[in-house]
Amino acid sequence: MFRDLTTNHIGKGHVSDDLYILDERESRSIACSSVMSPFEAHCRLGHPSLPLLKKLCPQFQNIPSLECESCRFAKHHRHSIGPRVNKRAESAFELVHSDVWGPCPVVSKTGHKYFVTFVDDFSRMTWIYFMKSRSEVFTHFGAFCAEVKTQFNASVRILRSDNAKEYMSESFQSYMRQHGILHQSSCVDTPSQNGVAERKNRHLLETTRALLFQMKVPKQFWADAVSTACFLINRMPSTVLNGDMPYSVIFPNKSLFSVEPKVFGSTCYVRDVRPFVTKLDPKALKSIFLSYSCLQKGYQCYSTKLGKYLVSNDVVFS
Ligand SMILES: [Zn+2]
Repeated sequence: MFRDLTTNHIGKGHVSDDLYILDERESRSIACSSVMSPFEAHCRLGHPSLPLLKKLCPQFQNIPSLECESCRFAKHHRHSIGPRVNKRAESAFELVHSDVWGPCPVVSKTGHKYFVTFVDDFSRMTWIYFMKSRSEVFTHFGAFCAEVKTQFNASVRILRSDNAKEYMSESFQSYMRQHGILHQSSCVDTPSQNGVAERKNRHLLETTRALLFQMKVPKQFWADAVSTACFLINRMPSTVLNGDMPYSVIFPNKSLFSVEPKVFGSTCYVRDVRPFVTKLDPKALKSIFLSYSCLQKGYQCYSTKLGKYLVSNDVVFS
C-alpha cells in the first residue's frame, strides 16, 4: 500500500529487487481535479457528506462547511441511523442482503416502477435491477447469482430479506433449495433485521432525490438517477469498510472511475454517429447526461430530439 505524506492512499504495489513498484495508481485525480470547486465535486460525486468528500478529494481538507440546498431538500439524515449490530461477513457473497423498493408514483422513461437491490455484506457493493412488477425479483436474483458465479467464481451462500411475498414464492424457495442457498427472512415484528438492505435503499433514495433536485431533472428519469446514485455510492468510502470503497474491495485492481464523473442532468453534446449525417449537418446531438455505462467506457445520455438513450465516450459537457 502506498501513502503520501498526509497519509492519503495513493495506490497498491509490490516489492521487486528491493524496489517498490506502484502497480496501479488510485484514480482519485479523475474523481475530482484540482480546478474543481468543492461544490462542483460534491454535485459530481452524488452529494456526499463533507467528511466523505474530504476523503475522496484531500485538497478540500480545510473547508469548514458546504451548503447545498438540494441536500436539504433530499433530507440527508445519515447521522440519525442507529449503530450496526451485526458482524460483517468474512468473504464476498457469503451473505447478500436484498430489498425491493416501489412502486414509484412515476413510471420511469424505461417503463419501470420498482427496483430490487442486492448488497454484498462483505464489500457493501450494491447491484440494482429495475422492474415493472415485484414478481420479477425471482428472475433478477437468478441473474445476480449467475453473474456472481461467472464473474467472481463464487456462490451466494445466504440471502437475507424481509418477508415480502416475492421472496416467499414457491419458485423462489425451490430455486434456493436447489442451489443450497439459505434464506434468512426477518421476523414479522422486527423488520430491522433486514437493516443493511433497508439502509442502503434509504441512502440510494436520498442521493437520488438530491440528484434530481439539483438539476431539476424530470421525475420520469428517476431510474437513471437511482443508477447514478448506486454507481457513486459504490465508489464512496464506507465507515463499515474502515474508509475503503465497496468497488475497490470487490475490484481491487480496477480504477474507481473509468470516465470522469460529471454532474447528473447536465447538458452535453454527444457526437452524432448516425450514418446519414452529412458534412453539412450538426456533428453533435444536444443531450442530458444521466448515468455511467456499466458495459462500455462512456456516458449514458438522453437526446430529447431523438427521444432515446445514447451511450458514448465522445461527449462534450457545456
Ligand atoms: Zn448536495
